[in-house]
Amino acid sequence: MSASPLETLQRVFGYDSFRGDQKAVIDHVVSGGDALVLMPTGGGKSLCYQIPALVLPGTCVVVSPLIALMQDQVDALIELGVKAAFLNSSQDWRTARDVEQAFLAGELDLLYVAPERLLTDRCMDLLSQGRVSLFAIDEAHCVSQWGHDFRPEYLGLSILHERWPEVPRLALTATATAATRREIAERLELNQAPHFVASFDRPNIQYRIVEKNEVRKQLLSFIQAEHEGDCGIVYCLSRARVEETATFLCDNGIPALPYHAGLNAAVRAQNQARFLREEGMVMVATIAFGMGVNKPDVRFVAHIDLPKSVEGYYQETGRAGRDGLPATAWLAYGLQDVVQQRRMINESAGDDAFRRRLGQQLDAMLGLCETVGCRRQRLLAYFDQQIEPCGNCDTCLEPPQAWDGTVAAQKILSAVYRLWRERGQRFGAGHLIDILRGKSTDRITQYGHQTLTVFGIGADLSEQAWRGVLRQLLAQSLLAVDQEGYGTLALTEGSRAVLKGEHKLLFRREPEKKARGSSRAAG
Ligand code: ADP
Ligand code: ZN
Repeated sequence: MSASPLETLQRVFGYDSFRGDQKAVIDHVVSGGDALVLMPTGGGKSLCYQIPALVLPGTCVVVSPLIALMQDQVDALIELGVKAAFLNSSQDWRTARDVEQAFLAGELDLLYVAPERLLTDRCMDLLSQGRVSLFAIDEAHCVSQWGHDFRPEYLGLSILHERWPEVPRLALTATATAATRREIAERLELNQAPHFVASFDRPNIQYRIVEKNEVRKQLLSFIQAEHEGDCGIVYCLSRARVEETATFLCDNGIPALPYHAGLNAAVRAQNQARFLREEGMVMVATIAFGMGVNKPDVRFVAHIDLPKSVEGYYQETGRAGRDGLPATAWLAYGLQDVVQQRRMINESAGDDAFRRRLGQQLDAMLGLCETVGCRRQRLLAYFDQQIEPCGNCDTCLEPPQAWDGTVAAQKILSAVYRLWRERGQRFGAGHLIDILRGKSTDRITQYGHQTLTVFGIGADLSEQAWRGVLRQLLAQSLLAVDQEGYGTLALTEGSRAVLKGEHKLLFRREPEKKARGSSRAAG
């Protein structure tokens, strides 16, 4: 063995000391053990295999799905004097052949390979003819069929263990629920391997969740008030929303670029490069953007649509403040998000178990949105980590008040019950609120809803307050989005207990909105 890990860290990478679990992981791998490493984004996972790659004789093979980033990663290593190369579909065959020969000649410390490439016969034969010191499986959560980064090729990686039982394997990920962890260990056959789990707290990120009304205006004021000139990412659910939001920001003087899977590869690569290079650029993107993008000074991550799971939310917000300086995770969330996501789950392909799993993931996300306790505490609890209230999230900084919403809930549930009898029709949340508030709209007259006993019984609460009540009932599954009707609301088992007065409800009081020109129609 040539040099010690610490000496290598200092000489090659120019750092003084290891962080967190790095030393323990490296020592374990260098002595021949397998391991699963869970560290948040920016936690320093790369060194966990790059140092063993330099210390151990042979080549460390890094399996990574991020083809677009391999060139950058390899260039950065070469700059440090490390002998690194990659094999992927972006190369011409001559370049690939040169890389293969360098590997066979024992001239490489690190070889990055995309999983689909690795699993080809040609690549398997190549690896058998050379000397592999270590397999590093990066973004190991891609093996999880439940996650949104699932890559079927990852399932084939258990073959590494069968073909090279004596070569240690290191799986790395920033995704860390106990369930995903188990799934990775199982599918990659890492059953005996220790798990190195770092703290997932990112104390410099301030988490804030606001009630959505006019979301683009809210986003603009948030950026102008707190992050003018800063680099940030805005996540949206759909491509159309990405486009319109990017245009809206540009029209309002905020430099912004779109990124989604519907743009061609060249445009995506160009926008990503500009985001990385230029100062103060805002990337408006779907979740297609971000995995492996290492930009330390992202000052905010905004979500203008509700993420589908706490894991996704954590990953996406984790791209803020990787340099350790203060950053903001800002999410706007409203009634329509809950209705839409519940409906999408109802309509999604897949069996009941799959839909149930999606429903549970959404429930956890809604729990985070509706909590009156510390957001960070709730977030980390999802990853089985306990902390004290943080003092750096919206609920710690401005504790929300609660109010007894039992009677309001009973009113709205009675109205749903009345409308349910006319379930051939599509009555959404807006119509329901109009009935409660006693508004005479065309639709109300058309269906004779002014004669319902519930008509006008909720005039004491504002439209906004009613939307809050509906949202919280949906979030707690005390009301459901009907399986058949488009956005129609239906009672659940839980609703009956509320109607019977067996269940007292405490709701979050929304901060009062400043009066605005128009009140958005509900739907
Ligand atoms: P991850 O892959 O976990 O997201 P990286 O490996 O990209 O994180 O590391 C994040 C940043 O932290 C990089 O800029 C890296 O150089 C730096 N870093 C990692 N380990 C150390 C260390 N021991 N000392 C100083 N900087 C480190
Ligand atoms: Zn807090």
